[in-house]
Amino acid sequence: MPDIKKKRKKVKNTDDIIFLDHVSKEYDDGTGAPALNDVSVRIGPGEFVFIVGDSGSGKSTLIKLLLRELTATEGTVNVLGYNLNKIRHRMIPKFRRKIGIVFQDFRLLKDRNVYENVAFAQRIIQVPSKEMKKNVPAVLASVGLAGKYKVRTKSLSGGEQQRVAIARALVNEPTLLLCDEPTGNLDPVNTREIMKLLNDINQAGTTVVVVTHNRDIVNEMQKRVITLKKGVIISDEEEGAYIDED
Ligand code: ADP
Repeated sequence: MPDIKKKRKKVKNTDDIIFLDHVSKEYDDGTGAPALNDVSVRIGPGEFVFIVGDSGSGKSTLIKLLLRELTATEGTVNVLGYNLNKIRHRMIPKFRRKIGIVFQDFRLLKDRNVYENVAFAQRIIQVPSKEMKKNVPAVLASVGLAGKYKVRTKSLSGGEQQRVAIARALVNEPTLLLCDEPTGNLDPVNTREIMKLLNDINQAGTTVVVVTHNRDIVNEMQKRVITLKKGVIISDEEEGAYIDED
């Protein structure tokens, strides 16, 4: 029997992209039930990981902890080598710039064209315009949108809009791409295309974490699958499948 009282060895591993060490999160709403309860997980460079679980299982809480929108009640959250329990406030924007984020609802500037939506991300970090004029077309071509630069995003299809959002997330060359239900608003054909694109991005070296409810895609893609239930990781499988709760 292992001695459960034995002090946990402090592990330091700067190679991890994500390292959660016995993390719990309780909201101050008086219910007392933690949204995440003693979660430990490591995601290494170059991995492609699905995070699945029913509504209320803690997926959004986990994403907010990874982005330092929330802090853990207990345990340590380490992302890209930053200890998010200790990170200084003025360092948070610099930290977040290393993460590309893709949402279910795209969150594009609807009245701007495709080029402007992606260039915006470069302007925020003050990329010189000469470089920007190379980077934006290159990333748009890589997501299959060469030739659509001047189209306003509101006239694009859902699949195309998500490609713009992915290009915007990638243009600053993030180490980690975090996708929150990226295919939640897409039909099955576009869903598959977006997943193929995310897979290609991963093959090119970016670590990709995808939160999803899409059982078919998870089962088809045969990637690592972490399943949350009531704030606990109930399964973490390489080449995993969507666990049916019914
Ligand atoms: P999921 O994203 O998997 O649906 P959430 O992380 O949103 O799960 O929620 C996990 C648990 O935390 C749920 O019980 C939910 O009611 C609770 N929760 C989420 N956000 C808050 C909040 N801001 N205040 C209080 N409780 C919350």
